[in-house]
Amino acid sequence: AAKDRGRRTYAFYESEMTENATHYMTRSLELRRGLENNELVLHYQPQIDAKTEQMIGVEALLRWNHPKHGLLGPMEIIPIAEQSGLIVEIGNWVIREACTQARTWQDEFGEKIRVAVNVSARQMQSSGFADTVQHELALSGLPAEFLELEVTESMIQDEDAMIQTLHDLREVGVSLTIDDFGTGYSCLRSIKSLPIKRLKIDRAFIKGIPDNSDDVALVDAMLAMAGSLGLQVTAEGVETRQQHAYLRNIDGMELQGFLFSKPVPADEIFVRKDSAAKFHKSV
Ligand code: C2E
Ligand code: MG
Ligand code: MG
Ligand code: MG
Repeated sequence: AAKDRGRRTYAFYESEMTENATHYMTRSLELRRGLENNELVLHYQPQIDAKTEQMIGVEALLRWNHPKHGLLGPMEIIPIAEQSGLIVEIGNWVIREACTQARTWQDEFGEKIRVAVNVSARQMQSSGFADTVQHELALSGLPAEFLELEVTESMIQDEDAMIQTLHDLREVGVSLTIDDFGTGYSCLRSIKSLPIKRLKIDRAFIKGIPDNSDDVALVDAMLAMAGSLGLQVTAEGVETRQQHAYLRNIDGMELQGFLFSKPVPADEIFVRKDSAAKFHKSV
């Protein structure tokens, strides 16, 4: 009986794997078609100056308007894009779209809004990446200083090609941010020696503020380190007034989270045309 059970379990896994493979193949074909049919869209989440509560920038976040399954998030796009190699094409589309949108906002509202774009490892390692970024900036007319690229800690390895690309990007004039800081294993020395401008403290740490003393200690340590290395800081996942109150008085602190706004479509970022300072409040 045990043998039967074993066989049945195996058969179950086998069929599940086939199902997954089929699902993956279907989705990657759909994704390629979706890219061609303009089904990909960006939503934007405001980044707020902790003191003045003014919107200084936005982060562009990828969404897929799937004809059958509705609006899908990055978890249902990025892994498929990574595996199928579509990630470079999609990532470059994201850069183009985000730069064009930021330039449009600057023209329409006269506000110097910055845009942050997430970059995956494979995209960063793709040949001529810095040139592509420079090209997209020129096409859109967005000055380089208004584009920020977010990379994760694991991408910051002591690897010559990557280090060269980061320096090339700095040459182009865009700024580099370490996303989800504290969750990976970054070499702190690299952070000091590489042209990194900003750390985004992962929301896992912000979550425990101000009640969890471990999280408070960790956030304080990250703030102290950033301060002494001259790095700017953004707190991710700010959801409560208490979190805002704790972070408000830190110099240059920027906040991002549902307390201020969820990610929203581009046309909802500015509620009123004449008032650039008023951003969409969804909470
Ligand atoms: P991320 O770059 O850390 O982006 C922040 C994520 O946290 C977003 O999820 C956002 O909706 C969510 N978030 C923001 N504020 C709050 C909050 O107050 N509470 C909570 N619980 N969540 C909050 P999203 O849009 O699902 O994106 C997930 C991840 O997918 C991003 O994490 C980023 O790593 C990746 N991603 C998104 N767009 C792109 C892209 O264009 N290219 C690449 N390579 N990755 C992307
Ligand atoms: Mg990010
Ligand atoms: Mg993040
Ligand atoms: Mg995160």
